[in-house]
Amino acid sequence: MTDADAADLLRRAGVDGGEARKLRRLAEDTGRLFDDLVKRRVAREPFSHIAGYRDFWSHRFRVNSHVLDPRPETELLVELALEHPFSKVLDLGTGSGCIVISLLAERPEARGVGTDVSEKAVLLAGENAAEIGVADRLVLPLSDWFEDVGGRYDLIVSNPPYIRLDDMPNLAPEVRDYEPHGALTDDGDGLSAYRAISEGASDHLVEGGRLLVEIGADQAEAVREIFSAAGLADVAVHTDLNGKDRVVAARRRS
Ligand code: GLN
Repeated sequence: MTDADAADLLRRAGVDGGEARKLRRLAEDTGRLFDDLVKRRVAREPFSHIAGYRDFWSHRFRVNSHVLDPRPETELLVELALEHPFSKVLDLGTGSGCIVISLLAERPEARGVGTDVSEKAVLLAGENAAEIGVADRLVLPLSDWFEDVGGRYDLIVSNPPYIRLDDMPNLAPEVRDYEPHGALTDDGDGLSAYRAISEGASDHLVEGGRLLVEIGADQAEAVREIFSAAGLADVAVHTDLNGKDRVVAARRRS
């Protein structure tokens, strides 16, 4: 549409000159805003960082560059966790809080603890907990795995950093360049979080309590061995909707 066409339309709609100038400025500002958003996405910034949210399980979570973008395959961990009753759940490396908040929203009697080493992550998880209505049942301490966690739980869940350092260059730019490095990789073989979690698990689980962790598709055997060596029982691997190994489950011996 030419400027003359636009002016003609506005005149016929009874819009006077002053209003027409305001409308034109509004259209220009909106166009510039849209161009900026498109430029950010073309530079491979994740949609969730631009929009400020990601839908996960049954809720919309605020997301920023300080937490891992909630991923659909992680919903398998939530699904498996809900297969058995629990009243106290611990989420190690909670990030946006998407796992523990989803679990508490599904089980109104349960209470939870979500830890992270990142203060900005636990602040965001707190906002999500408040918005989704579980803040009165969730504590969010800063902790390096079990370091500052007390008590025993009947369920421990975690989606830890599991990408091997030498795999980092192969990630999509959306992940590698925009998501927090510490949420993706342990700067090592991708297994150190499983060693730390399995070492502390039995001391923080009740008898028969369950441990569920997300894994990378090629890590099932290594994590199975780490969990078995730590004395955990009923170690089992579960596949996601793509048929990839995605969750390892275990129990504390009773
Ligand atoms: N699943 C994520 C990815 O492949 C990694 C998440 C993680 O390390 N916990 O990008």
